[in-house]
Amino acid sequence: MTKGDRKSRGVDSSKPELPWRPFADRPTGIWIDETVERIKQTAQPELIESLYRNQIPKNARFRVLKHLITVDGTKRPEGDNCPCPMCTPNRFLTGSLVWFPDLQFCAFIGNCCANDDVLAEAEKERKWREKRDSEESYLLEALPLVGPKLVIVESLKPVAFEAVRAYRKIRNTLPQVHEQLRKMKQHHGGQLTLTEIIRDESQENDDYYGPAGFKGRGKDGIESRDHTFGTFSGHIAVHRDYNPTKELEDIHRSLVSVASDSYGQDALNFIVGMSEKQRHAAVVILRDAEAKIVRFKDRLQDLALFYTRTNAEKFNQFFTHDLNSIYYKVEYISVRSQPTLRFKKGASHYDLIRGSWADKIDFSWPSS
Ligand SMILES: [Zn+2]
Repeated sequence: MTKGDRKSRGVDSSKPELPWRPFADRPTGIWIDETVERIKQTAQPELIESLYRNQIPKNARFRVLKHLITVDGTKRPEGDNCPCPMCTPNRFLTGSLVWFPDLQFCAFIGNCCANDDVLAEAEKERKWREKRDSEESYLLEALPLVGPKLVIVESLKPVAFEAVRAYRKIRNTLPQVHEQLRKMKQHHGGQLTLTEIIRDESQENDDYYGPAGFKGRGKDGIESRDHTFGTFSGHIAVHRDYNPTKELEDIHRSLVSVASDSYGQDALNFIVGMSEKQRHAAVVILRDAEAKIVRFKDRLQDLALFYTRTNAEKFNQFFTHDLNSIYYKVEYISVRSQPTLRFKKGASHYDLIRGSWADKIDFSWPSS
């Protein structure tokens, strides 16, 4: 930069020009850190020679290198504020270290001064850079784990398969029970509830008298009361179509779609070769896969909780109650050393055996 540029920059040529260090490219992180450190230590940015300290046009385009740097005014010899090169004689204590790509220098300016458009653009640039940096560092950690994760997903396939079989056994063996429990989940949050009709006006005789003080006379003239038997555990067991095998395939597909067959290669090279869209999509997909594996595990654990002694006791009360149109005695037993719910009616019985899959769901998962 030559002094001939001064006029075009709108600079008052009556004052002697202070020296500065030209920056054709964005300065390095090391320089930024050192300069921020010096600004804070000396509290006198106007003495730092690498910074541009002459008047800067108010509409100059800049990019923020470091936001919100606060100077300790008491460290300054006069105890005053720092002069702002963009809007002097204004002074400030909190400002930003910025780089002017067109003017090719750096300066410490007050947060006060640049016009909104310039600030907005600089802010946009800073946000974009921060997002890119965080996506890159996420991928640097996450990509090398894709390979090991695929191995674990593969090893979980038989576990998922067995769990699907256990779930379908409930649904297919005792469809009415399954259906009724699903209603309990949907309408009563899992609280086993039977509703007794106390008084139905549509079928009422004149000499009706009954217990007073019960809740609920509906608009259809029905008075009722609820009998409850506690909340059962393992709600996923009564889901309409639970399919952990499908969940696992979905996770597998997500992981492979990000890294295809390249997850073995150097993550850094792989990231560098990505477009911005690809990089962003990769982060979204990998984060989503993480959430899905957590859900996969949670649901398997929930299914395992269906096969408990407490559930058997609650189900037994619920399904042997006079008000229930479905009748079963329910016992908790052990079949092939697996927790089992035995549903009995007359001479027949139906065993819901948990299965050994439930011992393998506490798998480890590499976390980034
Ligand atoms: Zn200013």
